[in-house]
Amino acid sequence: MSNFICRENFLPFCLPDISQQELDEIADAIRSGWWAKGPRTIAFEKAFAEYVGAKYAVAMNSCTAALHVALLAGGVGPGDEVITTPYTFCASANTILHVGATPVFVDVDPDSACIDVDALEAAITPKTKAIVPIHFAGMACDLDRIYALAEKHGLFVSEDAAHAVETRYNGQLIGHCVQGAASFSFYATKNLATGEGGMLVTEDEAIAQRARVLCSHGMSANAWNRYGKGGSWRYDVEEPGFKYNMFDIQAALGLVQLQRMPAMQAHRMQIVARYDQAFSRMPELVLQSNPAYSGHSKHLYVARLRPDALTIDRDRFITELAERNIGTSVHFIPVHLMRAYRQRFGYTEGDFPHTEAFFAQEVSLPLYSGLSLVDAQYVIDAVQDIVDTYRA
Ligand SMILES: *Cc1c(COP(=O)(O)O)cnc(C)c1O
Repeated sequence: MSNFICRENFLPFCLPDISQQELDEIADAIRSGWWAKGPRTIAFEKAFAEYVGAKYAVAMNSCTAALHVALLAGGVGPGDEVITTPYTFCASANTILHVGATPVFVDVDPDSACIDVDALEAAITPKTKAIVPIHFAGMACDLDRIYALAEKHGLFVSEDAAHAVETRYNGQLIGHCVQGAASFSFYATKNLATGEGGMLVTEDEAIAQRARVLCSHGMSANAWNRYGKGGSWRYDVEEPGFKYNMFDIQAALGLVQLQRMPAMQAHRMQIVARYDQAFSRMPELVLQSNPAYSGHSKHLYVARLRPDALTIDRDRFITELAERNIGTSVHFIPVHLMRAYRQRFGYTEGDFPHTEAFFAQEVSLPLYSGLSLVDAQYVIDAVQDIVDTYRA
């Protein structure tokens, strides 16, 4: 008989980590009267570029915007093919369609769910123009191999670094001296959160310059300051762009969150250490593999249910956790199985077996820097209780 005791209140899958500092900085930003893009956004760009070790950083209102602009700045357009994986959030593929190019999906590595570089190489054609690798859950893709292929075939690399704040490749943060572009997300659930928000980083001045122009309607670069001291009312529109820029109330959050990142990440890692210790002892669970080159940011805690080890499937496992008052998520519903992609490209079940198998077994457990160690232990106990109850 189980002696598990269910908690009374719901433990959410994710919550932003809010301190008095964020509240104070937002209040200051609001009182300053500068609400749109201004000094705080510029300061956040500078601080983020310094933090990852990038020459240029362009702040946007989402990672999706950054991914879109990165492809445009990388010269990707109609007729081009862009290789990516279907095991991602739809934005990675949608933005390829937005520039008029064709997403070419390749399957993932079955143990890490990051792009299978052999499959990537096999998918390169004369029409291939770019690669969008996803650092899934915070694991680094094999960038040396990816950039070697890119160089050999003259391809642009736009890293989807939505999960990769604090991810390292061979010891260097993602975005450090990036050879193409890397786009980070500051969505409310991400490791560094501004509610909505994103950042494109690059070493290439032309890409940074084009990104700046494109994310402000195509207006010439310093138009954001046209109402400020020293600014001018005169601006030009260099090309029809987008309204994609970050604004100062977001950047206020970003500046504080970036300062708090080491402490937030340290707490996240404490939870991960406890999870790893407990879950690696449960043969019913399979944890995400992580190659030696990858310093994992632990954006997501990805567990899979070993087939045939339990009498319940993943969906029921999630229901059992919900009945124990624990929120979870699934990353990801494969993009090729979404209606828009099925209808347009004729994709169907079985097209990407590793992606689909990972999806069928995956559950993302609560992991965030505001999660207490007591709550983390509760998650461990609940998983143990379910595994004990439904062991095959
Ligand atoms: C969150 C996410 C995005 C999109 O980020 P936004 O900032 O919400 O636009 C893109 N790719 C992946 C893999 C994500 O998880």
